[in-house]
This record gives sequence, structure tokens and C-alpha cells, in this order.
Amino acid sequence: MARYTDAVCRQCRREGQKLFLKGDRCYTGKCGVTRRAYAPGMHGQSRKKPSEYGIQLREKQKARRFYGVLESQFEKYFEMANKQKGVTGENLLRILESRLDNVVYRLGFAMSRREARQMVTHRHFNVNGRCVNIPSYLLKAGDVVELRPNAKQKDRFKSTLESNASRPMPRWLEIDRDAYAAKIVNLPSRDEIDLPIEEHLIVELYSK
Ligand code: SF4
Repeated sequence: MARYTDAVCRQCRREGQKLFLKGDRCYTGKCGVTRRAYAPGMHGQSRKKPSEYGIQLREKQKARRFYGVLESQFEKYFEMANKQKGVTGENLLRILESRLDNVVYRLGFAMSRREARQMVTHRHFNVNGRCVNIPSYLLKAGDVVELRPNAKQKDRFKSTLESNASRPMPRWLEIDRDAYAAKIVNLPSRDEIDLPIEEHLIVELYSK
């Protein structure tokens, strides 16, 4: 399974904003964006007006990096979104949100999507009663995501859930913290996705 292995803080610095890829560290003064608020590399501090293409490309990269998705997978999601009824950009974000690793993160089982991805590959979650270890697994309305019995015994999950309890729970998810289980009430509409992504720029990029 291919994945990004370079230093993750570089991704945030490249996009010029926090993507919250490292969990706790992102909220401290050690955050790479806080310490070095310019793009990585030897030309990182030079100022150049980006082209229209450059702006669209950065928006796509930002979305991809928020969700930890590689280029080829992202292109597949765009094709899926394009074939669906409705607004392509919104469809794309809805597909990304419905990934199992994203839902595990949104529910508060993990401090970041990267950590959630690792938890899923380590077989800690059931979907509708069956173990799923594929982070890109796409959930549907009505699906139930639950911590597996062995994982429920681990303090790590209890403490992470507790420390994330203050994080706003999306309306499209319903969690029972005592049972370590949650239901996908419905897939989110655009106003229920709180990420600062201008999806129309991504659609324009792929429409060239
Ligand atoms: Fe991004 Fe988190 Fe690194 Fe800050 S600490 S640059 S938000 S990954």
C-alpha cells in the first residue's frame, strides 16, 4: 500500500496553513507552520504571484493532503464524483469524508487522520460487525463503525476519546461513547464539512 513517507510538516508549510496531520503537536508552539511560516525548500521565502493554474493546483494538493490521499486515488475519487448526480466538487468532498480513516478521526478515536489510518490498518475497527482494515473503505448511510472487542480493553482509545470529547461532532455522525460505536446517519452535505477547501478550483483544474 503506497503512502507518503516524507516529513509531514513540509506539506503544511507548502500549503501555507495547518493541515493538522500530527495530532497533539499541531496545537503547540512546535508546529512547523508556527515556527517557519514559509514554504519549504531554498526558494520557500521568495515571493512570486501564483498563476491561475498554480492556485488551482495548490487547492487540489491541499485537499489531498488534508485527507492523506495519493494522487492516483484522488483522481479516481474525482472520476467517481463526476459520474454522480449533483455538484461535482461537493460530491468529491463527500466521498473523501466517507473514507473509514476520516470517520474514525471525526469520531475522536484518533488525534489525526494519519493516526486513524494506522488504527484501521491495525485491525481495530469493525464495520457492520466485520473487521475492515482498509483506510479508504467508503462508508454509506446506516453503516455502523465499532471498536473491536480487544481494542475496547485498551486505555489508549478511552483516553483519546475523552480528550477529543470537546471536539464538535459532525451532525452526520452519531456516537455512543460508552459502546465505542457510531452510526453514519447520512453522508454530509457541503455545509457539514468544515474544511477550508474551495472545491470549485479543483473541478476547474481537472476540467482543463
Ligand atoms: Fe502541520 Fe501539525 Fe506539523 Fe503544524 S505540527 S506543520 S499543523 S502537521
